[in-house]
Amino acid sequence: MIDLIDLYYNIKNYSEEDIAMIKKAYALANHLHDGQFRQSGEPYIVHPLNVAYILSTLKADADTICAGLLHDTLEDTSISKGEIEKEFNSTVANLVDGVTKISGMNFQSKKEQNMANTRKIITSIESDVRIIIIKLADRLHNMRTLEFKKKEKQIENALETMEIFVPLAYFIGAYEIKSELEDLSLFYLKNDEYQKIAEIRHKQEVGCNYLLEEMLNKIHNLLTQNGIPNEIKTKIKNIYGIYKRLAQGNKLSEMHDLLSLKIMVDSIPNCYLTLGLVHENYYPLNDKFKDYICNPKSNLYRSLHTTVFGPENRLVQTRIRTFKMEYIASYGLTADWDFNSDKAREKMQKYLKNKCQFYRTLTEIDKMFSDNDSFVNQVKLELFGDKIYVHTSTGEMIELPKGSTPIDFAYQINSKIGRQMEKVFVNDEEVPFDYVLKDGDRVRIVTKNNDSISDVMIDGAHTTHAKRKILESIKN
Ligand code: MN
Repeated sequence: MIDLIDLYYNIKNYSEEDIAMIKKAYALANHLHDGQFRQSGEPYIVHPLNVAYILSTLKADADTICAGLLHDTLEDTSISKGEIEKEFNSTVANLVDGVTKISGMNFQSKKEQNMANTRKIITSIESDVRIIIIKLADRLHNMRTLEFKKKEKQIENALETMEIFVPLAYFIGAYEIKSELEDLSLFYLKNDEYQKIAEIRHKQEVGCNYLLEEMLNKIHNLLTQNGIPNEIKTKIKNIYGIYKRLAQGNKLSEMHDLLSLKIMVDSIPNCYLTLGLVHENYYPLNDKFKDYICNPKSNLYRSLHTTVFGPENRLVQTRIRTFKMEYIASYGLTADWDFNSDKAREKMQKYLKNKCQFYRTLTEIDKMFSDNDSFVNQVKLELFGDKIYVHTSTGEMIELPKGSTPIDFAYQINSKIGRQMEKVFVNDEEVPFDYVLKDGDRVRIVTKNNDSISDVMIDGAHTTHAKRKILESIKN
């Protein structure tokens, strides 16, 4: 169980002012929730305290932790947003307001209210990504304590977690939270499967531990002999990850990333040296090499991935990254703010706005769909669905939703290329405009000098962005 002491321990290196503000927020939340209880019978304050604790393990800033402590006060107690602003500051007040459910409007049904709230959470990334981080911490603690809820509520929450919160955790790059949410959801949604796979996983863990350890020691020694500071961890895919692979028809022994080694080293050049040493000692599986260091994912994830034939010819995925990359991969964007100083958060918000495909697509969908129901459905389809990564002719990687065509690819790069497409080559073969792109395809677009939108383009576009741009061109 988490105590106040644990929270204070995590923030011990924060400034004196920050610590004082967090203590004040705790005292206020404790006072406001006095007399309220959770379904588990515990005093209500246990919940906001846990949320704040999760945020502190993510190295969130003091404003975010205060908002975590106060996150349910606007909804469930007598305090107003103005009062929070007066006691703390406008950031804390805005964050608490951001995670508070919309109420008081005339909703026709519970479902309609849910859709409006889902939209509010998802679009909050446009104003301040910290709102999503607090919501994730809130959801994680609620999922950890879901046993005290009624059966229907458990199913409802687990479904919503899979559909909305797991993808959001992915978008902010918080992989630890993502896999815990996945496993907790599966536990409530498909308990039989969960138990079955938990057992399989446990057997693998026990049975393969020695071979992972053998490989770990060998690589550790090699790196040390070569003067590369390193830390290596062994890992087995989470229960949900295994469930998904099995459901896709994969066999356990053929999963290229069931067993993995995470190798952390001190610098990027040493990541590549490490890769060389690994390949020199273990045969790589040729088609499973990924370089996310020079092509980071849109959530800032960076790492080299290579699957090799480990001891006893078991496939082992080796992930090589710097210590800093590892930190960001575990905790997401908040960890990046911790590393950067002062203006880091503003920079992050700006980065999201200018560079992040997720952010841009979200803004487009937000503009296109005024109805909350259609908005949420489109987000699920286009943003939260599976992704493919394709290359431009210069090698740059472009992320697109699965089902995208060269038309989407062209408009993603810029609208002019979209309007002036003449021919498309995928992996050096000419293909029709509505060809469905596959992961790893290399796409080259040949343009002409004038705009022309053909019918095939109207039907062949898959993304909201391309569709909207095409409609704009037709209207003009
Ligand atoms: Mn809550």
